Amino acid sequence: MSREQAQQILKEAQRVAVATHVSPDADAISSATGLVQILRRLGKTAEAFCDDDLPARLKAIPHVEEIARIARGSFDLLVSVDASDPGRLGKAFAELQGLPLLNIDHHVTNTRFGTINWVDPSAVATAEMVLWLAEDLGVALDAELASILLAGIVGDTMGLRTANVNARILREVTRLMEAGASLPALVDALFNRRPLAAVRLFGQALVGVQVESGVIWTVITREMRAASGLTHANDLSLSSFLIGVEEARIAAVFTERDDGKVEVSMRARPGYDVARVALAFGGGGHPPAAGCLLPGPMEEVIPLILAALKTAARDSQGETSEGR
Ligand code: 5GP
Ligand code: MN
Repeated sequence: MSREQAQQILKEAQRVAVATHVSPDADAISSATGLVQILRRLGKTAEAFCDDDLPARLKAIPHVEEIARIARGSFDLLVSVDASDPGRLGKAFAELQGLPLLNIDHHVTNTRFGTINWVDPSAVATAEMVLWLAEDLGVALDAELASILLAGIVGDTMGLRTANVNARILREVTRLMEAGASLPALVDALFNRRPLAAVRLFGQALVGVQVESGVIWTVITREMRAASGLTHANDLSLSSFLIGVEEARIAAVFTERDDGKVEVSMRARPGYDVARVALAFGGGGHPPAAGCLLPGPMEEVIPLILAALKTAARDSQGETSEGR
């Protein structure tokens, strides 16, 4: 239903602004850039916006350099991709307010903030939904578009390794590879390359790891980040590493930003749900991978979040197939 509405409003639009979330990941950049390329192939004007710096590893995605930070220009439609609430769009949302808004997302926590909401948590990535749109709108895949879209799928499934990977997505990955996208090149760029500074910071953070009632957690302070020279702390994927610890059902990394706010990155084993915890604190995500941003200070945030996570670590939802 909303998939048809999404198609319809995109067919009618002529000048489209596509905005994605702050702290962008591969799926954010992939779905925004992919949709822009599809719209341009249909003869429309389209621009992508992200109100944040882009981590270096995302430079492997074609056309990433065209993404602008400030949303200026004249548009007749705003599309939000991979953002579960309007706050995640940063200044892009404020600049483009008043336009009809198409909200395309796969987060179960999506607040349905669009004029039209196409939210499908069964999609492994928003980029998968954009692939469906390309097919619906009759845009053929070429090597470049296929690489852009595969990047988001590979990013959100951690290289096709999450619990939600199924035969459907593997068939789609096959189609993207037949069109010319390279799975090994994207896995390498997104997961196998990291700056030395990240490894040093990783080491420091591992020294402080604690496990309590099934919750494994650690802290990255401003001082630790400054000493390592690494600005994008979520480049670390430290929470994804910690959830591999056998004694843990839930993992959390608390990162202190330069403005004193605290970012919380959370992961859960299959059957446990951190999306509900994130949502309760104004954030969002998926049952196995979610996050939120709190005003701080660190010593207030940690006990608050840990109490909620310990409750979540007691409540098994049964084995679920929902991934990130
Ligand atoms: P990560 O821990 O990898 O940064 O994020 C895991 C998931 O949670 C991603 O789907 C991401 O979009 C979502 N997420 C992380 N931080 C926030 C936040 O502050 N607000 C919302 N709504 N979602 C978040
Ligand atoms: Mn996503």
